[in-house]
Amino acid sequence: MRIKKRLFIGLLILSLVFITAVLAGGWYLGWYLMANNEILFNRILLALGIFTLVIILLLIALGIVGLVLIIWRGRNQSLLQRLGLMAVNALFPIALALGSRLGVKQATIKASFIEMNNQLVRLRGLVVKPDKILILAPHCLQWSGCPHKITIDANNCRRCGKCPIHNLHYLVDKYGVALAVATGGTLARHFVKQYHPQAVVAIACERDLTSGIQDTQPLAVLGILNERPNGPCLDTQVNLKRVEEAIQFFLYPRMIKESQMQGESWHVESSI
Ligand code: SF4
Repeated sequence: MRIKKRLFIGLLILSLVFITAVLAGGWYLGWYLMANNEILFNRILLALGIFTLVIILLLIALGIVGLVLIIWRGRNQSLLQRLGLMAVNALFPIALALGSRLGVKQATIKASFIEMNNQLVRLRGLVVKPDKILILAPHCLQWSGCPHKITIDANNCRRCGKCPIHNLHYLVDKYGVALAVATGGTLARHFVKQYHPQAVVAIACERDLTSGIQDTQPLAVLGILNERPNGPCLDTQVNLKRVEEAIQFFLYPRMIKESQMQGESWHVESSI
């Protein structure tokens, strides 16, 4: 089931309202307690602090408005996107905490964030050469009984067809993109430094995708959630059609946009 990005944007707005209310309460109390304070310096200090916080809150609010405008109009604006990412980074922990308090699962909130990120990346319309695209896959996609060490080198896979790594290699051959398989965030960051891609198609669970996307900003990362029929981290699966579509988005973004505007489905033939 696809999670709507409006959930995350709604939580961002709620977080902004929440910290504005907390800061307004703090300001009122501080001002009230200092009402009889004769030391002018303290009052100036408080006023300066409040002024700085108001500016930061205004920038964050502008960032959220920018995100809504970009997604609503379907048009990228790099300054607004940068402000939006700043707002997301600042409010993310509060949005998670508030969402949990309201009974929304953390995984659902993170999935909504990933959807929003994917939409923003697509709207950037980057055209990337195949050798600058990296498919970053998690180790749990590999069949648990496989003896081959593919995290050192994905080419150690013998393509026996027992797990999705086989089909990812098929996409590597078809499009000329790179593939790396990581056991966790540290190795994933290492591969990003090693391959120096302009775009990443990342496959992982909600938690790893969220931290990976945030760690590598402003790199263009299209996130695809893995499927876990055997529970977390064991013989996971991925929708390979979505992986292929993500590669095609980076290779032919204009053609895809035009076909979508004409209400057609994307017509580059999918092999899976
Ligand atoms: S496809 Fe590759 S990684 Fe998967 S089980 Fe076979 S050899 Fe191992």
